[in-house]
Amino acid sequence: MKIYLNGKLVDEKDAVVSVFDHGLLYGDGVFEGTRVYDGNIAFLDEHMQRLLDSAKVIVLDVGMTKEALIAATVETCKANNLKNGYLRHVVTRGVGNLGLNPYQCKKAQVIIIAADIQLYPAELYEKGMKIITAGTIRNMAEAVNPRVKSLNYLNNIMAKIEAINSGVMECLMLNSQGFIAEASGDNVFAIKGNKLMTPPTWCGGLEGITRDKVMQVAREMGMEVSETVMTRYELWTADEVFLTGTAAEVIAVVDLDRRPIGAGKPGPVTKKLGQAYRKLAGADGIKIA
Ligand code: PMP
Repeated sequence: MKIYLNGKLVDEKDAVVSVFDHGLLYGDGVFEGTRVYDGNIAFLDEHMQRLLDSAKVIVLDVGMTKEALIAATVETCKANNLKNGYLRHVVTRGVGNLGLNPYQCKKAQVIIIAADIQLYPAELYEKGMKIITAGTIRNMAEAVNPRVKSLNYLNNIMAKIEAINSGVMECLMLNSQGFIAEASGDNVFAIKGNKLMTPPTWCGGLEGITRDKVMQVAREMGMEVSETVMTRYELWTADEVFLTGTAAEVIAVVDLDRRPIGAGKPGPVTKKLGQAYRKLAGADGIKIA
């Protein structure tokens, strides 16, 4: 596997970073996860924009324009002959000293990994997913804003541990006020009649690109789409609930905290939205060839 590392494509064994990199020492950096479908890098422009926006919020100079990031991404896919898979962009603060001061780090490190996609088991898509509500609350936007896709994912990992220890693969995360923020690595939606609801990002969620695209296809299907402050009430009373994410795409949630949601199986609207999203993801993006 060839890894893009600071302007060069290097062998995996040579793709190493310093122990003084603040990405490692402090989780000081940002990242992206992007999908490739049949040679189409889905929504790459949007992913690179979010990477640059996340970097800007943490005062991290990526040192590359969006166009340069897109070109480097295409180059990395070509070097690995990747037609279907998953890309990970990582930008770290770079090499500094053992102090916190980010200004000691002279140059950001830009890494692009072109890998296989780790999918949820197919059974989860057929039968739907069971999730729990994590006790770990989502970071407050005034502390570490969840809209920044930073290398600081401990908040999500603590919640994910609770999910796995409870025998499920995902969990709902509430914010400090008890409102739904998102899942540990996905956004959450509820369907009630012709209405599609998801929490506003200020409740503590990432502005997921899948989230945005699903809202777009739902509007095109004539659904009434809204960003709504939600508690578990909206999920208990929903017809259908699903999660969205680049890796997960659209996946039905059929059980929350050992209580069935809706009919307790993936619903027709979730399926329709999933298909429409998948079609868009195969077409809208940057072609590798
Ligand atoms: N929330 C969190 C915390 C995430 O890490 C992700 C990405 N895996 C998402 C939501 C979904 O975002 P996207 O649709 O852009 O992949």
